[in-house]
Amino acid sequence: MSDPLLLDVRDLSVHFPVRQGRQGRRGTQDVIRAVDGVDFQVYRAETLGLVGESGSGKTTVGRAVLRALAPTGGAIVYHFPGEPAVDVATLDKRALRPFRRNMQMVFQDPYSSLNPRMTVRDIIAEPLEALKLGTRAEIDARVQEIARACRLSPDHLRRFPHAFSGGQRQRIGIARALASNPAFVVCDEPVSALDVSIRAEILNLLQDMQDQLGLTYLLVSHDLSVIEHVTHRMAVMYLGRLVELAPTKRVFQQPLHPYTETLLSAVPVADPEVPFHPTLLSGELPNPINPPSGCAFHTRCPYVEEVCITTRPELRPLAPGRMVACHVAHQLQLRGVDGGMDSGRTGQP
Ligand code: SF4
Repeated sequence: MSDPLLLDVRDLSVHFPVRQGRQGRRGTQDVIRAVDGVDFQVYRAETLGLVGESGSGKTTVGRAVLRALAPTGGAIVYHFPGEPAVDVATLDKRALRPFRRNMQMVFQDPYSSLNPRMTVRDIIAEPLEALKLGTRAEIDARVQEIARACRLSPDHLRRFPHAFSGGQRQRIGIARALASNPAFVVCDEPVSALDVSIRAEILNLLQDMQDQLGLTYLLVSHDLSVIEHVTHRMAVMYLGRLVELAPTKRVFQQPLHPYTETLLSAVPVADPEVPFHPTLLSGELPNPINPPSGCAFHTRCPYVEEVCITTRPELRPLAPGRMVACHVAHQLQLRGVDGGMDSGRTGQP
């Protein structure tokens, strides 16, 4: 990426203690390793997609980088334009406050994320008032400006959320997130609760706002068609760790990690000539309290080897701009979404 770095995440971990030790082991405490040593960077004006199945830790990463929850370890370094770099991982609530205007979130559910007792004007103004970003008149002017940009009329501002459709409510949620003119926005499954017919409208609005305002997004989604259409690069998570990170187009053409290949096999292609054969993963998603040894995917991987069971693969560069955590990725020829070739080993060492 040639754009300047905006967010540098190093060795991020988020562990949740489980209330009691298992099987009556007094004095012990199990830990869910929701995020376990994740590294990635996000560059200005890009959209990085974060994808994985339910329980992979992708939403926890999104919340941790905004400090909506406290990480267990690691660094979350922001390079906001015109400001010195700041690691927000260890800042307390008070010290975080000046950075809040630059870090915002669009939530998944536009029904539950809007306060039903507040008018749309007050909902959009809430972060501005909480962060004391202007006088009443300045805040009113900003609310009208951002509402207009999000295709909401002045009349909408006087109404309550129940008067709106799902798509309109999500536009209100986007206006609220963008009101403070943030540099970085986490979009957590921003269209998964919406009808298919209005998903494109919301995704287009997010892209228009990115173009107009130079926004940087981390887009968390389990929906690969959303990831394909709106992200520049994508990161794939499995059981709390990144297994692949690369430009989205190249991942869709030819993934490097066996888990990514499995995810992509479930993406239907709009071509009746292309056979649709989703790969079913064998076995359950392992327990994050007690993840498998070595490569966490080894219990379900069709390419597993002896080394995979004993040694954890690190996320390493395999080609320019492409990172993968797999011992044998250099020997594999995996299938992308066009389904145009058989996957398997190349026979190279
Ligand atoms: Fe499969 Fe081994 Fe690669 Fe893990 S390291 S994805 S088990 S081949």
